[in-house]
Amino acid sequence: MISWPLYARPAFEWAVSPVERVADTASNTMAISQRVRKVLWARSGNRCALCRRSLTLTVDSTDLPSVIGDECHIRSRTTRGPRAAESPEDVDSLDNLILLCKNDHKLVDDHPELFTEDILLATKLLHEIWVQASLESSRSNDDPMSPARAKSDELKPLERVISGNQLVSLIREGHMYSFGNCDLKDKSAVELVASFLQLLQDYGDILGGLDVGKVVRIEAQLGEEIKQLESQGLHLYGRRGVRLMKLGDQRAQLNVASIFVLPQDTAAAFDRGDGSVLVLPRIGSRQVTEPSA
Ligand SMILES: [Zn+2]
Repeated sequence: MISWPLYARPAFEWAVSPVERVADTASNTMAISQRVRKVLWARSGNRCALCRRSLTLTVDSTDLPSVIGDECHIRSRTTRGPRAAESPEDVDSLDNLILLCKNDHKLVDDHPELFTEDILLATKLLHEIWVQASLESSRSNDDPMSPARAKSDELKPLERVISGNQLVSLIREGHMYSFGNCDLKDKSAVELVASFLQLLQDYGDILGGLDVGKVVRIEAQLGEEIKQLESQGLHLYGRRGVRLMKLGDQRAQLNVASIFVLPQDTAAAFDRGDGSVLVLPRIGSRQVTEPSA
């Protein structure tokens, strides 16, 4: 299985012939409008969406910087290309472009089986949120109520959850739950995950009012459920964050528990190298509980 930390990779050097590079870049930019290009570069903060390196390099202060970024197609125009588009229309639209450094452009085009359309769209969205949150957080101080702070919580990696105790501390006294899963291959896995997430939601709603003995029993039960998921090749990940809500003129800070069930190979593709994963909350997730308090 191919597994590398998608967002924390060292910078790879790839041998690519200059001819291939020039041809590639020329065909990429030919039909993309100036406006689309400007918006893409602006939203990407002049950084590669995968490795986040700056895409302009200055060697000498008297020179114009060199541009080392490519506007890359997510679905390609030609049927021979990676992630071929069903129809060639709109391949040059903003939605179908991602800004990458030249190394990562080569990498994603050489491995379309790993860098699928969904993964690239998620990567792009995550990157644009990161750019926005970075800019906002440099303006706002450490105010825990600031929108930037709440946004940056959404960007925190998801930690692997292997025990009932860990899971209970994630969901306890949560105001909102965001659950997600993806690529479930068979019906029995779908049923297993559905009943597991339902159980979590039910327990999350009542955990705060239970005495310690009952909580310990729930932890043991959830521990068994986690083992059952793992025996089916499904891994559990979670994160606790805050979200700001406007309730009339008031702003409220709500605890959000995000729980993801990921097949082992999907988890490996999102692995950051330390056992945690970065998964965009909007991809394959659904929010099942509105604020209850
Ligand atoms: Zn890069």
